[in-house]
Amino acid sequence: MKTIGILGGMSWESSVEYERVINTEVRERLGGVHSGDLLIRSYDFDAIEKLQEAGDWEAVGEVLAEDAALLEKAGADLIILATNTMHKVARQIEEAIRIPFLHIADATAEAIEAEGIEAIALLGTRYTMEQDFYRGRLTAHDLEVLVPNATDRTFVHDVIYNELVRGRIVEASKQRLLQIIDRLYERGAEGVIAGCTEIELLVTPDDVDRPYFPTARIHAIAAVDFALD
Ligand code: GLU
Repeated sequence: MKTIGILGGMSWESSVEYERVINTEVRERLGGVHSGDLLIRSYDFDAIEKLQEAGDWEAVGEVLAEDAALLEKAGADLIILATNTMHKVARQIEEAIRIPFLHIADATAEAIEAEGIEAIALLGTRYTMEQDFYRGRLTAHDLEVLVPNATDRTFVHDVIYNELVRGRIVEASKQRLLQIIDRLYERGAEGVIAGCTEIELLVTPDDVDRPYFPTARIHAIAAVDFALD
């Protein structure tokens, strides 16, 4: 089994989910008391969030790139970044390592393609929904990407930063997210990407009636596929 290096703690609410999914999946596939072989670098999200707000992506990219190299030196065979948003600096990380970097949007796009879906809704942070680093990666897979209108995008972004990364699961927010998803269906979306690794802690596949793509889970399982290949 290969060693998976995880850059996480952005927030730890979701990186803990990566650890849970990877370990459960490895145990299911290998049996007995097997679990994942992991190296985890978990961050104080307060520092990361301040740099995001300030738009200083270069600085966060430097930290993540340096730590990816350290995880490689410590024995990682693969690096995954346990957040959609910070894939904005994916290139900086890739340039710092010689081992593979498994991009969350590629793993997600492959799962969507496997379902034969062409038009997909994307929920995530403002950065993920509005900027090309993520949407562009999906359209490169020939997917049509639909995002909520400006008011709804603000709501989704605020739920992530004011509730989910703080460990708060609020039923009223879930109901409003489901209404936003319905509006995206009306605009032609055939399925939904939970394009923020904390959203799947609030909205689960059982809550929606079309194909649902929880990125933390998809990404974690793709890492297990690599580790056990
Ligand atoms: N984890 C979230 C994401 O997948 C947002 C928080 C962060 O910036 O990492 O985009």
